Amino acid sequence: EIVASPIVDPATSEVTGAVVAFRDVTERREVERMKDRFLSVVSHELRTPLTSIRGGLGLINSGALGALPPEIEVIAASAEESAERLGRLVNDILDVERLASGNFEVRPVPHSAASLIETSATELASLAQRAGVTLEVGDVGGWVVADPDRVAQVLGNLIGNAIKFSEPGDTVRISTAPGRDEVVFAVADEGRGIPADRLEDIFERFRQVDSSDARLEGGTGLGLAITRAIVTQLGGRVWAESDWGKGSTFRFTLPVAPDAGQRPPAKSAL
Ligand code: ADP
Repeated sequence: EIVASPIVDPATSEVTGAVVAFRDVTERREVERMKDRFLSVVSHELRTPLTSIRGGLGLINSGALGALPPEIEVIAASAEESAERLGRLVNDILDVERLASGNFEVRPVPHSAASLIETSATELASLAQRAGVTLEVGDVGGWVVADPDRVAQVLGNLIGNAIKFSEPGDTVRISTAPGRDEVVFAVADEGRGIPADRLEDIFERFRQVDSSDARLEGGTGLGLAITRAIVTQLGGRVWAESDWGKGSTFRFTLPVAPDAGQRPPAKSAL
């Protein structure tokens, strides 16, 4: 990177020369790396005390120690919620660091797309219900090679976001389109949508369309960065499409299982 700035004589206001600076971008990368490392160390250190805070607050709020005065009940519930949110943030930061440093284990095995989706849809059913959002599993077929736990993390992030940015009465649809080399998974919502010029940068860490999104249901701004890192590591791609105001569709691909033809057709039971 080259930066040039003129040297001006203060007495005459004449330009007498110029300073040309060559700024090394590797230095900036090093700063990024140190920032990641710092966040990771802090997160590790936060884990143990957080476990004890969450445990303590959980016990107090369970009522096992006796009923709380109503005004304290509210404070304790909100403290527990904040501790849970901090816990999610810490886990996400650790995931990002592990993904960036290649310390993230993936064990890809053949799996039917239907079973992967069913697992996640079941997990997120109560969240959808609470939000008044209908979770619909459409045509799902195909076999992929993927790590089921990591796919659950990806689908959890995408379906969770779809629910979070929907209105009560909206529908979130999950489907797949099996191809020759890859299966395309789609999570479509009817929510507020994403402006066209933000469709790429939301996959970067801590990027959110609206600054208030961070507080919405405990968002960390790391979900999509983790999602992209996992999908890439599994040999696929992930991207977003959106009609601003009419909803968004997130798609990701996973490689097809080599002997997919010999497997029974996988259809969803949902
Ligand atoms: P967050 O924890 O904030 O959800 P993500 O990385 O998962 O972090 O998402 C980043 C941002 O992308 C969100 O804060 C939101 O602004 C936008 N976004 C993600 N999914 C959707 C969606 N389905 N509809 C509208 N906006 C979305």
